[in-house]
Order: sequence, then C-alpha cells, then structure tokens
Amino acid sequence: MAHDAPSGPSGPTKLVILNIGLILSGDLEKPILDGDAIVAENGRITAIGRLKDLDTEGATTTVDANGAAVTPGLIDSHVHPVAGDWTPRQSQLNWIDSFLHGGVTTMISAGEVHYPGRPRDVVGVKALAITAQRTFSAFRPGGVKIHAGAPVIEHEMVEEDFKELAAAGVKLLGEVGLGGVKDGPTARKMVGWARKYGIQSTIHTGGPSIPGSGLIDKDVVLEADTDVVGHINGGHTALPDSQIRCICEGCKRGLELVHNGNERSALYTLRIAREMGDLHRVILGTDAPAGSGVQPLGILRMVSLLSSLGDLPAEQAFCLATGNTARMRALDCGIIEVGRSADFVIMDTAQHSAGKNLLESIQLGDLPGIGMTIIDGIVRTERSRNTPPATRVPVLVKS
Ligand SMILES: [Zn+2]
Repeated sequence: MAHDAPSGPSGPTKLVILNIGLILSGDLEKPILDGDAIVAENGRITAIGRLKDLDTEGATTTVDANGAAVTPGLIDSHVHPVAGDWTPRQSQLNWIDSFLHGGVTTMISAGEVHYPGRPRDVVGVKALAITAQRTFSAFRPGGVKIHAGAPVIEHEMVEEDFKELAAAGVKLLGEVGLGGVKDGPTARKMVGWARKYGIQSTIHTGGPSIPGSGLIDKDVVLEADTDVVGHINGGHTALPDSQIRCICEGCKRGLELVHNGNERSALYTLRIAREMGDLHRVILGTDAPAGSGVQPLGILRMVSLLSSLGDLPAEQAFCLATGNTARMRALDCGIIEVGRSADFVIMDTAQHSAGKNLLESIQLGDLPGIGMTIIDGIVRTERSRNTPPATRVPVLVKS
C-alpha cells in the first residue's frame, strides 16, 4: 500500500492548466470566472485568466484541459476516519483514495468514533484526538487533506482539557451527542470552552444513527450553539420539518447537509436557507463511512441532488461543496482565487448525458465525469475509476 508523504516534489513547481472550457470558482458571489487558463506556483494559485495574458514561462507541469471544466477540489465536511486509509465501519481499505476519484481533495473529521474500543475516559479521549490529528497530518492517502483529531465531549471534561487539546494542535470537536454529553446546558458550556481556545464544533442532529447513539432535537442544537449544525437532515433520521425550520431561523450557524441523511429533509433545508437568503450557510458532507456504507461519489451526488431536485443552478451547488465550507472552516482551499491552494478537479459532462453541457447535465440529475484531480498543484489522479467517463478528458502535456 502506498504511504504518501504530505509534501510534494522537493524543488519549485509551476503548473499551467490551459484550454479550460469553464472555470467554476466555488464562490457564491461569482460562481463562474472568465478565463481559459490557471497558473499555480509551489502549490498556490498565482494567476487566472486568458492564456495569452498569463506568464507560463518555466512551467514544470502543463495540463491541456481539452475544453473541460475546472472546479475547486471538493470538500467533504463530515467524515469519520479512523486510521490511515482503512475504516472498520465497513471493513474497507482505500476508501479515502476512492473519494479522491470522486473529486474530494479535503475531508473534515466529525469524530474518530468508529475506532474499535474507543476510549470514553478523559485521558483516552484526548490521547485519541491528538493521535488522529498527528497521524492524518503526517499521512495523506493520495494527497487528500484530512483534518482529523476531533474529540467527542464527555461529562468529566473541564476547561483545562480544551486548553490542553488546543495547545496540542486539536482544532475540531467531534459531533456533540455521540459521547456522554447529550444535554444542552453541558454542551453549551463545553462548546464555549472549545471556541475560547480556537476549536470548531459540530453536533449530531436528529435521531440516533446506530443503536447506542441518541436523539438530539432542536432545543439541544440551539442551546449547544455549535459552529456547524451537523447533518441537519439527520444521520439518518431527520427532525420534523418544523424543528428544522426553527434551527435555520434560530441561529446563524452552518447548516450541513449529508449524503447519509434524509434526502427530503436536505431539500427542505435548502429551500428554507434560500428563502432566508442564507445559502452561504449551507455546506455538504457525506457522513461516511457509516451504516449506509462508503460513498466515493457522495459529494457529487449531493451537488446533483440539490441542483436537480432543489432547482439550484449547478454552479451554485458546487459552492456548497467548496467555497462555503472553506470559508466556514477557515481553510485555504475551496475557491479558485489567487493565493489559495491549487486544489482542482477537472470534469466534463458524462458521456451520453441528456444534458448539452456540464451544468445542464447536473441540473438534469446526472453526475459529471472526472478526468483529473490536482492537489497542491500536483496531478494526483487522471481519469477517475469511479465516475462515469467524461466526454472531454484533460491531457498531461508535460510533467
Ligand atoms: Zn451524526
């Protein structure tokens, strides 16, 4: 099994992508950019525009997009990694690499809760979180950026524990509600401590996902006041629509929609958020691995679901899986903008789709075909082994 180091080539790199047919920025303010070329140096975007106007001198890698579209690398806001590229939840190897073939270049852990025999005592909870943070920083399957080390809060924790976790590099809390703390007042107190030390938080919303987990309703969600309302569409069992509406209207936090949730409730949440003019609050995840399995194309499927059944223009739907998440999670990827990480997916209309172009095909409910993924300006995969074949496929001209 390949054990990729997080860093790329040792020397300076310059990537030029030319012949781009469509640039989707990932930014809701301006989801489509003018231009047919992108330049990235040493893993950062340095220029976007017309090829004739850009400095392409000294390129170390040149990709001919062949008229296909370039989007930011997709971000899965809700995964449950355990160790390396293995999940005990469905006894599966290389699931992260498979997600890369579905366009996901960044993942955010909502807790390493599937760790066999996961500790519940405070020292054990902290040790597991720090271990996950360290190991996923040092080991990136396929180059995928995995933000892990997300402890699940337990009653015995005190403020000092959050200070200590933050000092050790932990930046996330796992889903509130998956541990012993399931009540609003305790959750609110601990989420406040986490926030004080720069640790972001999320919560399990809805009915229990597996035997042993519990119900978290709107009152607990609103009182806990986590930064992200984790799977507001349930994981799987959703709250009643009236409660979902209360959460959307009762706070300004992130509204996360997951693949392994209730799809009707996801569409309902999308509609409420749009009516409120709060589309920027909506972010996407898979909540995989889970009882529902592992979905390498889960984020693409959410984009297609929300675009086709939710009547959301496809270029906006992509923002929910890229720029919205990047802004909410303070990540330097997710938007095609000078200075940000050069993480891209090159994709096109799937062969034989009824749609005349990429955006129309997604609005019709089809998935796109991925022809290449790039992370930190380095080509990671060529034609996807998981998506339908793309009509136009990029070519690595020089590397
Ligand atoms: Zn959950």
